[in-house]
Formats: sequence, structure tokens, C-alpha cells
Amino acid sequence: MLPVFDCHADALQRALDLGHDLGQETHGHLDLVRGRRGGLAAVVLTAWIDGPYAEEPGAAKRRTNALLDAADDLFARHPESLCQVVDGARLLEPDPSRLACVLAIEGGHAIEDDLDQLDHYAGRGVRVMTLTWNNHLSWARSCRDGAGAAVPEGLSDFGVRVVERMGELGMLVDLSHAGERTFYDALEAAVAPPMVSHSGCRALSDHPRNVTDDQLRALAQRGGVLGIPFATAFLDEDERRAEQAFRKTEAYRNAGGDNATERLLLEGDAIQSGMPPFPLERVADHVLHALEVAGPRHVALGADFDGIDRRPAGLEDASGYPALLEVLGRRGVDQETLGLVAYHNAARAIAEATATAAAR
Ligand SMILES: [Zn+2]
Repeated sequence: MLPVFDCHADALQRALDLGHDLGQETHGHLDLVRGRRGGLAAVVLTAWIDGPYAEEPGAAKRRTNALLDAADDLFARHPESLCQVVDGARLLEPDPSRLACVLAIEGGHAIEDDLDQLDHYAGRGVRVMTLTWNNHLSWARSCRDGAGAAVPEGLSDFGVRVVERMGELGMLVDLSHAGERTFYDALEAAVAPPMVSHSGCRALSDHPRNVTDDQLRALAQRGGVLGIPFATAFLDEDERRAEQAFRKTEAYRNAGGDNATERLLLEGDAIQSGMPPFPLERVADHVLHALEVAGPRHVALGADFDGIDRRPAGLEDASGYPALLEVLGRRGVDQETLGLVAYHNAARAIAEATATAAAR
């Protein structure tokens, strides 16, 4: 079984909000047990900070630190089977005995406009930051509409300083969710090649979260990597419309849950059982297109497990990666390229990013 590196998973919020031990089999998408079944050798575990945390001073910092505490607790509980990696060079050879976890933050509002806070997170072992989530920042525009006049077109001067400081700290710049201008500004300002950890191809599905072929070529030219997501709404426009209709049904609206994290999980159960299976081939389409445009060294996988509701058939959880790799092989991807997409491109990106701190 090929080792897999997943560039984006939101599982930490289940650990914090639902008390799930990700070292065991849990009700959710990604944990150690199912990951092991799927060949998962490394994962970027993301502290996702929802937009509303940006509105109250101190709230985003508190939420971020609480999610990182949950990660510390997870690593302390399972030292024999999980390890936190801060030096990406350790990822270049996959270690079958332990799942390597790289900590990330999704949403630059986590730093609350304070570069010292970025240093604090780096000190806690965070090695990836997705500059924006769907909310706009005072220093960076996201890919969503509705930015007011106070939001810069791309990165502000402070935004450029954030990206440069990330380079000094050995943190990888993740440009999923970034607005197009932010993407190009960050590509220029970044010290190491950036990643777009969980976005599809706009040429196949016109969604603002996906990247255009021009962006894909620019990313590849810069040495970066695109992680193809399993988020069905990004992958197929017709399916997205059908999902929007399903989300209005009683079955979805009454899925239950005591908090947002549990709600997302139960909505995921409702939509998986209530809608026809989403074809796994569609995920393969995006991988193949990205390979064609960007080349074999610039495509990876970024499922976004535990951050999405609907998943493709066969890719419901972290045990499913071999099914996708099998389809890719059947559709003509050679073994070497499969290995790059499944693991090595992501490992190289993290290794290059963390090396910028080591080199100082
Ligand atoms: Zn995301």
C-alpha cells in the first residue's frame, strides 16, 4: 500500500469539542485507526478558526490555543503511534510505525494582527498557516465576495510582513481560500514554495475555492503544490446545486448536534445517506487535470476530512485513499507519479518550508 500524506484535515476540532480520541477509531472522518487502514503516513492537522472568532478580541487566540492544546494531548496519549513533526526533513522518508502530524492554523485572524502571536504559534510547533479562511482580514482578501472598502485587493503591507515572517519561522504559506490577488501577492512574498492545501481545478468546476489553470501554472513555476480536496461541492457544479437543495430538507436541517462540530458530523451522516453516491471518478478528474497543467511534482491530496459534510463514494473516511489511487492507476498515472501525488510532493513542500528557519 502506498504511503499517503493528507495536506488538510480538520479532525482536531472533534478532539476539542467532542472529546474524541483521534488515536482510536472514532465517529468522524480521520483518526489513527482508519488512517492506518488507508496507508496514511503523514497529515497536516489543522486548527480551523471559524470566522466569528475574528469578531471578539482574544477569541481567535483562545480558540487556536485550545485546539493546539488538544493536539498536545493527542500526542502525549499516543507517543508510540503518533508524532508531531516540526522539521519537515523528517517527512522525506515515510515512517510506517508512526503517523507524522504537522500542525497548522487555518485563518490568519488567529494572529489577531500581531506578528508576535505568529511567533507564539511557531513556538508551539505550528508549521503551516492558511492565510485566510472564507472571512476577509484587514491584511488579506479571501476568495469570497463581499469584501468592503477596508479590505485590500490582495495582501496589505502588513500581510506581506506576515508572509515574510512565516518564512523566517519556517512556516509554509497555504493559499487555499485566498483571493486571486492575495494568491499572486503571497507567491511573490513567500520565502519557500507555497501550498494550496485543499482546492480543486476551476477549469473543471467553477467555484471560487478552486484555482484557475493560470494559478496552477504559477504555483508550479514557484515550486508549490496543490492538494486536491474531497469536498464534493468544489468538484462538481451539478452536484453542488443538488447539495444546496438537499441542505434545505428536514433530514439535513434536523440532523441534530449540540455544537457546530457535532452538527457538521451529523449533517455529514444525513447527506451521505440521503443523497446518491458522489462518483469517486470526479476526484480523479481533478487530480488528472492538475497533473496535466502543473506536472507530476506539484499535485497532492488535501481531503479536508472532518471539515466537510458530503464525501465521495469510497472516500468517506481516511481508510479510503487506496481506492482513489487505484482509480488513478487505472486511468494511466504511472507508479512513480502516484507515489509523488500520494505522499512525496507534500512531504517535499513541508520540508522546504521548514528548512527556511533551519537555514537562518
Ligand atoms: Zn478550508
